[in-house]
Amino acid sequence: MTSIPVTSNRYAQSQKFFQRALAVTPGGVHSPVRSFKGLHTSPLFMNRAQGAWIFDEDHHSFIDFCMSFGPLILGHQDQDVKEAIMAALNDGWTYGACEKYSLELAEFILQRLPFLEQIRFMSSGTEAVMTAIRLARGHTQKSKIIKFDGCYHGHMDALLVKSGSGLAGTETASSLGVTHETIENTLVCPLGDIAALRNLFAQHKNSIAALIIEPLPANYGLLIQARSFLEELPKLCHEYQSLLIFDEVISGFRMSFGGMAELYNITPDLVTYGKVIGGGMPVGAVAGKKAIMQNLAPLGGVYQAGTLSANPVAMRAGLMTLQKIAVPSFYQTLDQTSEKIVHIFEKWSQTYDGGKFSHLQWVRSGSLFWPIRGHAPITKVSDLPSSMNEDFYELFKVLLEKGIYLAPNGYEVGFVSSAHQQIFSELETRLYAP
Ligand SMILES: *Cc1c(COP(=O)(O)O)cnc(C)c1O
Repeated sequence: MTSIPVTSNRYAQSQKFFQRALAVTPGGVHSPVRSFKGLHTSPLFMNRAQGAWIFDEDHHSFIDFCMSFGPLILGHQDQDVKEAIMAALNDGWTYGACEKYSLELAEFILQRLPFLEQIRFMSSGTEAVMTAIRLARGHTQKSKIIKFDGCYHGHMDALLVKSGSGLAGTETASSLGVTHETIENTLVCPLGDIAALRNLFAQHKNSIAALIIEPLPANYGLLIQARSFLEELPKLCHEYQSLLIFDEVISGFRMSFGGMAELYNITPDLVTYGKVIGGGMPVGAVAGKKAIMQNLAPLGGVYQAGTLSANPVAMRAGLMTLQKIAVPSFYQTLDQTSEKIVHIFEKWSQTYDGGKFSHLQWVRSGSLFWPIRGHAPITKVSDLPSSMNEDFYELFKVLLEKGIYLAPNGYEVGFVSSAHQQIFSELETRLYAP
């Protein structure tokens, strides 16, 4: 591969900050994807963002398609969300006690999503998944979990597994520090493979507490699943008295208000939310039927707690965000915005630099997109091209120089917000600038 480093003093301030950061935090970052690993440049230090724009310490402007990895469905600094946050700050920023905004947010969500009866708020998607798994185990009194290869559910130990050869029983930890004991109850299945899933259930008949899936897998590229496959999942879970957990941390409130569950009319037993639900503030949530949710402490024996859970500033940011997007036209307009943006990218990539990127397809689902080599649909990990990282580096580098910022890793999807409606012509100008 060509590994021409993005040198020059173009990013001098970012480079300086990064050198300092390397001394005080591992790898200079507080979440690994921010390190620009494999991109032959030090990460950008951002200092301001507005609408669809983000600005770095060297005063470059970028059209932002990372959008903080998903929470900002209304773009940066939406005026109404900002006012809600400011108002919340005036009242104090944490009480560690009951307050009415978590109640209003819970009611707002549950009134619109009749397949959910109760919800509990916490501070991250990882926490939500961890709680859902514990809750499923507590409720069913079973221990095994099935997850899919190509789905990401945050960084709880039991889900940091990869399938060795794609066959069940060959799982290994995907992180150091995760013990064999922690993952021996985790089974991994290839996405879209209903026969393999049936086998797993049959093999472990009475011991599967839950099946967890991202109904729109969007952390390993965008691996769009057939609706017919997703529709089989509640049936299988029901047959074996296991719980179905939809991890809608990305897809929830983004693909539709009620995420993929609502879009496809599939009822999971538990749903995890994050990202959009907090409007850019730290919020995660678990929701489901009352009979299951009531197993949580203080009513039930499944323990879960959080010092900053349902933080009033985060609750009000989330509530304002959801109030703004819970109108029928919102998702239609967002979809059109996203379609237009992807169309602009597609057209450009066919002709740029004598067809340098003509091998790319731009996979899209709603306001998520993903550039990847090839023409055939990519729906599972084994479909991913081996040149993926180099391909992404080439694209990322060109777009960055043009002032267009993708999430800095080829496995991440692009996020479109409602603020991107205003940048169509600027995107074209930047793409075609010599
Ligand atoms: C982001 C994400 C998580 C983890 O959420 P954090 O807030 O980063 O802990 C879990 N599941 C899915 C599907 C996600 O996209």
